[in-house]
Amino acid sequence: MGYFCLLILRSMSTVLSDSFRHQGLRQQLVEEVKKKGIGDLRVLAALGRVPRHFFLDNVFTELAYTDQAMPIGAGQTISQPYTVAFQTELLGVEERMKVLEIGTGSGYQACVLEEMGARVFSVERQRLLYQTTRERLLHMGRKIKVFFGDGTLGLPAFAPFDRIIVTAGAPLVPQTLVNQLKIGGLMVIPVGDESSQKMMRITRISASELAHETFENFRFVPLLGQEGWREKC
Ligand code: SAH
Repeated sequence: MGYFCLLILRSMSTVLSDSFRHQGLRQQLVEEVKKKGIGDLRVLAALGRVPRHFFLDNVFTELAYTDQAMPIGAGQTISQPYTVAFQTELLGVEERMKVLEIGTGSGYQACVLEEMGARVFSVERQRLLYQTTRERLLHMGRKIKVFFGDGTLGLPAFAPFDRIIVTAGAPLVPQTLVNQLKIGGLMVIPVGDESSQKMMRITRISASELAHETFENFRFVPLLGQEGWREKC
C-alpha cells in the first residue's frame, strides 16, 4: 500500500515538475511567438509563466514547447501557442475582469487568462475532458471555475461578462453569448466553415449595437451545440 502511494506521488511529481529545461524551452517558444507578431508584453509574460507540458499527456511532453496544436483526448486539441497568444491579445484582458471561455479543453488557455489577472469561467461539453481538466486545475491550485454543458448558451447565472473567448470554430456568432456581454465588452470568436475560420472580434457598443472586426484565418475543432454546429449522428 505504502509503495503504491509512493508510485502515485512519484508520477504526480513528474507530471507537475517544471524543470530549468522546461523553462528554457518555454522562453524559446515565447520568442518564437513574438517573432510571429505578438507584441503585447503582458500576453508574452503570461505565456512564459504557464507550464504547457502540465496540460499534455506524457508522450507529448517533448513537443509541449513547439508551436503546434496537440491532441488532448476525446478527439480534441490544445490550441497552438501562437493561436492562444493571438486570441488573448485581441481580448485585451485587464486585472479582475470577468472572462468567459467556451471550450475549456486542456485548461491551458484558461490559465493564460488567469495569469493576466482575469477571473475565469470556462465551459466544456465533453464530460471526460471536463472532469480531468477540472481536477488538473484544482491540483495546480488554480481558481478557474469550470462548468460542464453547452457553452453556446453561455452561463446566464454569472452574466454579464467583460470578455468572452470562444476556442472552437463557430458557424456564426451565438446571439446568446452576445447578450451575455457587458456594454463595452468584447468577444473573440473564430467563425467560418468546418475547414477554416476567420478570427472575429465583436464589441458590444450599446444594448443593440455591435462592431465587428475580422482578422486572420485559423483552423479550430468545431463548436458543437444549440447555437453551434449540429452534432453528426
Ligand atoms: N481552450 C482549449 C482548447 C480547446 S479545443 C485549451 O486551451 O486546451 C475546443 C474545445 O471546445 C474542445 O474541448 C471541445 O470539446 C469544446 N467544445 C466544442 N463545442 C463546445 C460547446 N458548445 N460548449 C463547450 N465546449 C465546447
